This record gives sequence, C-alpha cells and structure tokens, in this order.
Amino acid sequence: MPTGTEVETRPVVLILLGPPGAGKGTQARMLEERFGLVQLSTGDLLRAAVAEGTPAGLAAKAVMESGALVSDEIVLEILAERMARPDVARGVILDGFPRTAGQAAALDTLLAGVGQAVTAAISLEVDDAAMVGRVSGRFTCAACGEGYHDEHKQPAVAGTCDKCGGTEFKRRADDNAETVAERLKAYHAQTAPLIAHYAGLGVLERVDAMQDIDAVAGGLGDIVARVTV
Ligand code: AMP
Repeated sequence: MPTGTEVETRPVVLILLGPPGAGKGTQARMLEERFGLVQLSTGDLLRAAVAEGTPAGLAAKAVMESGALVSDEIVLEILAERMARPDVARGVILDGFPRTAGQAAALDTLLAGVGQAVTAAISLEVDDAAMVGRVSGRFTCAACGEGYHDEHKQPAVAGTCDKCGGTEFKRRADDNAETVAERLKAYHAQTAPLIAHYAGLGVLERVDAMQDIDAVAGGLGDIVARVTV
C-alpha cells in the first residue's frame, strides 16, 4: 500500500535522432553504461533477424542493402518483441527508432497505453557532407559490438578490442558510399520531419554532433541527467 513517501520512478524513454554516421550507436552505448539504461537499436535487431533468417529478416534483407527503410509493420513487430523483455524496465535509449511518422505515432500510442510518454528526443545535429566518410570508415568488434573508426577511434592496441579483448572485427554491408547516400536521402525525407513532431510535444533537445565523441557524450550526458531527475 502506498505510504505517500515513495518516489515514483517512471521508465525513461530517450530517442536519439540523427542521420547515419551521426554517432547514435556510439553515444547510446555510452549512455547505457553511464545511466543504466538499455540501448535498443532497430538496426541491430533487424541485422540479427537477417542473420537468423527469420521471416522478418528475410523480408528486410534486400531493403536494408538498398539503403531504404524497412516497413513500419516489420519494425514495430520486432520492437514490440524486444520491449516486452524485462530488462527494459528502468528505461530505454531508442537508437534508430522511430524513423517515420507512422512509427512515431505508434510509439506515442504504445506509451500512452501504459501511462508513459517520451522523456526526450535528442537530435544529433551534423553536416551531411561529413557523414559518408564517417560511415564508410567504421567497424565493430565481432564479439561485443564496440564501435571503432579508421580515423577517429582505433583500438588502443591494434587488432584487439578495448572492451572485451576480441580480435575479430566486422564492417556492415550497407556502410558503403552508394548505400549511405540512399540512407541519407531516406533520413531527410522520412525521419527529419520527426524533429518537428517532438518539438511540438515539448521534448526536443539538440546536440552539436560534429564535436569529438567525448564532447558529444558530455553534452548528451548533461541533457539525460537533467531530464531523468
Ligand atoms: P541502422 O543500423 O540504424 O543504420 O539501420 C540500418 C538499416 O536498417 C536502415 O538503413 C534501414 O534499412 C533499417 N532500419 C533500421 N531501423 C529502422 C526503422 N526504425 N525503420 C525502418 N527501417 C529501419
């Protein structure tokens, strides 16, 4: 029975908005560690579905390789499955979701149904011209997923992951110049309008994501600390 002295803690729902290469994945992982939230990347979930050969993965594969967006139906299905797992109770950082007006509306409805709302949508602001280079230089540890970049973030010991000591790295099939150009187009046509949606809801925050990784992490951390008190 409530005593009137408990502090009600609501699950935190953070959204990272930004084009491919803005640093959403890198920053989400840093926020995850610092604030004990769970990073939820629809791109990662879709890549896992492709690797497992599930029906959703089979349907998504060619679309992802072209740089276009996977259908809302498939994305919402895999997201709902993931959100149903108990580890998301403290809160989530949505990385790469929502990406369309339909997804944003579905998220608003889903949260409203459980008495919640988006805590903050943080737009990582970057220059398009720099994004192709950022994306085409990146690679990740095959074991733990830690992200690296040919120019901006090499492992401290060449060939060994700083985080887990893994020695195998991988590059994404869609991180090539041609597909990145398509992904940027999809971002501007379908995702950038969500910035106005979240401004309208009064939860929009902006960060200059052309700064180096630690400076961006500092700016984001300040925002998250402020909105999660
Ligand atoms: P990402 O890892 O976020 O860069 O996503 C890689 C690809 O997965 C995108 O280019 C899309 O084809 C697909 N994808 C990821 N998230 C979404 C989403 N929320 N809606 C539609 N397609 C998505």
